[in-house]
Amino acid sequence: MRLSATFKVGNVSVAALSDAATEMPLPGFFDEVPDEEWTSALGIDTPGTSVPFNFGSFLLRGSGRTVLLDTGFGEQGPYAEAKGAAGLLDRIRDLGVGLDEIDAVIHTHLHFDHVGWNTVTEGGERVPTFRNAVWRVSEEEINWWDGGAAQPHPNYEHILRDVFDPIVGHGKVESFSGERLVEPFLTSIPTPGHTPGHTSFLLSSAGEHLLLVGDAAHHPEHLVHHDWVPAVDNDPRETTRSRRRIVDLAIEKDAMVTGGHFPILTIGKLSEIDNAIKFTEVEIKETEEF
Ligand SMILES: [Zn+2]
Repeated sequence: MRLSATFKVGNVSVAALSDAATEMPLPGFFDEVPDEEWTSALGIDTPGTSVPFNFGSFLLRGSGRTVLLDTGFGEQGPYAEAKGAAGLLDRIRDLGVGLDEIDAVIHTHLHFDHVGWNTVTEGGERVPTFRNAVWRVSEEEINWWDGGAAQPHPNYEHILRDVFDPIVGHGKVESFSGERLVEPFLTSIPTPGHTPGHTSFLLSSAGEHLLLVGDAAHHPEHLVHHDWVPAVDNDPRETTRSRRRIVDLAIEKDAMVTGGHFPILTIGKLSEIDNAIKFTEVEIKETEEF
């Protein structure tokens, strides 16, 4: 599996970057679906069969802004054996981008595998990794974690203590709410369910669109079967409504669609004929330069 790829959407440069590329079985993602239905959709024999699974971020550059969407596992990732594990910062530097050049870090949500590189340890202290960045997180997401409602989450303490509170402490967090332009080329699309403040983002430039769905879908087949209820979400019913919203928006805008957990360059367009949704992969013209 690829660890990095660069391409353009309109005038915006996009780098899809992995913090760990692995394979894992996905039964919990299709909880209420008969095994034979979802396994045949994924092209595997048994629910225990592993499929390619990426822990990915997107670095976006346009209109004089350099923006990082999600920050992987960080120093303490659980997939140390995975290809490219804990390599997000190296991958950013490999593009010729300095960590201090990043103007904004934007989160789809605050789960463990999306916030890890927010901080690095320096002199025994957790400090912001991207010193000139502002962090943009939805208000609903901040309230869920800050208010303690997210507490049953196994990494709750780690997330607040090590990777979120230090950013707040440095006065770096700016919240947003609803659908709005959070960067000149990026619109927030609320897609709650996986977490209450989970947000997808629509990148738009020069008439082209790329919809970044976060964890509203962990596999393209979950957009095709948007009503398949997963077990991994805080509110699985709400996620199915959010996936429907993603499908409608992608079709309306003729947008390309991908997610941080899709293998790099698994990017497609959605269509719907007679209630059957289809994900058709698009061939991406890669660029040498970022
Ligand atoms: Zn995730």
